[in-house]
Amino acid sequence: MDVTFAGAAHEVTGSCHLVRVNGRTLALDCGMFQGKRSESREKNARLPAPVESLDAVILSHAHIDHAGRLPFLVREGYANRIWATPATRDLSAIMLADSAHIQEKDAEFLARRQKAVAEPLYGLRHAARTIELMTGIPYDTPFEPIPGVRATFIEAGHILGSASVVLDCTEGGVTRRLVFSGDIGRAGLPIIRDPVPPKGAHTVIMESTYGNRDHEPVESARARLAEVIKITAARGGRILIPAFAVGRTQEIIYELHILTREGGIPAIPVYIDSPLAIDTTSVFEMHPDLFDATEDLVQRVTELFKFVPVIYTRDAQESKALNSARGPMIIIAASGMMEAGRILHHLAHGASDPRNTILVVGFQAEHTLGRRIVERQPILKIFGDEVPLRAQVEVISGYSAHADRAELTKWLDDVRAQSPDLERVHLVHGEPEAQTALTASLEAKGYNVDAPAFGAVRPL
Ligand SMILES: [Zn+2]
Ligand SMILES: [Zn+2]
Repeated sequence: MDVTFAGAAHEVTGSCHLVRVNGRTLALDCGMFQGKRSESREKNARLPAPVESLDAVILSHAHIDHAGRLPFLVREGYANRIWATPATRDLSAIMLADSAHIQEKDAEFLARRQKAVAEPLYGLRHAARTIELMTGIPYDTPFEPIPGVRATFIEAGHILGSASVVLDCTEGGVTRRLVFSGDIGRAGLPIIRDPVPPKGAHTVIMESTYGNRDHEPVESARARLAEVIKITAARGGRILIPAFAVGRTQEIIYELHILTREGGIPAIPVYIDSPLAIDTTSVFEMHPDLFDATEDLVQRVTELFKFVPVIYTRDAQESKALNSARGPMIIIAASGMMEAGRILHHLAHGASDPRNTILVVGFQAEHTLGRRIVERQPILKIFGDEVPLRAQVEVISGYSAHADRAELTKWLDDVRAQSPDLERVHLVHGEPEAQTALTASLEAKGYNVDAPAFGAVRPL
């Protein structure tokens, strides 16, 4: 029994780990490598293992860095089951279709530039077939993906449907428990339940994205959000919130709902300007059983995402019409890192007006327009035009869906407290600096830790 690290090794994307038991192979995640286009293209086109050797896939959550290569696997002939929670399955349907669309656009772009045929990694039909192979299994309900392995999803508190995966692997009369953390969320995130640390582990594979950083507390984020809205509205400006359509947008809508009911913000229109966000909101509404029942709004209100003054704009013409609208308003649009999507035309129109605020609520990677805005560069390039950045820029890090250094350590401490036979911890899903820092601090607490390189094999 062993595990091969086939992705998210010394980096944060491309999550994929291959577990071998009784001569069969099970993949935990099959995510997309993201980053520089040329490098990731090559990495994505290489399968983690020959298709015929893969007997099952278990998916931790719907984010593209975990699910994004499944349609490619299917295109190459994978036809076995893919196990996921029901909400992950529903969110994957939206996200993989969107990803297929992006793959096709990317291939067109490459073909134009290189004047050669560039094939997309996969198309819409492969994304659709992937969803057909998915079996939805609720949390805390054991299932048998391959003979000798009993698997259970545990709440990871990261996005709707996100799970840690517990695998009880039996071979030759010996049973070992492997815990795969998936992406670990944070206690107190809006709507989403708190992460539940699994018990009884022998081996833990743990994410380490923010192994060297701490976030603002979740509790202070709402007050900051209210303050930014009040100040901007008083100036007569617009609040432009670039947000991922899946997850972050629903959390912000929920926060605005609380603030609206409390009278904490002025009654100005809130436009949710993203078809993908509208579809995702429908998936949220299909899974109210997964909302955090300890939260006041969840207990008291059924329509969490539909309230005055929220207006959903699906149509592109309605979106463009917002440019000529007057008065203060809030506009939430994708993409989160401002690289594509409707947020671009709102920025092209609004970034030069000093009354407006660009409110950043998510991570901004290097080489993105979002990062340049956070760095407050004086001139932005949008649709090929130069736009002076005169709007205010505010950043709230308290809505991060990833556990920070202290929260990762607490999660692992809780696992250890309930795992008398814990032997080792393998760090994945982190940049080398984050992993080095976290390794050192965990070793100081007596853990046996390593951060396996790509292709490394470890016994279970
Ligand atoms: Zn994630
Ligand atoms: Zn991830």
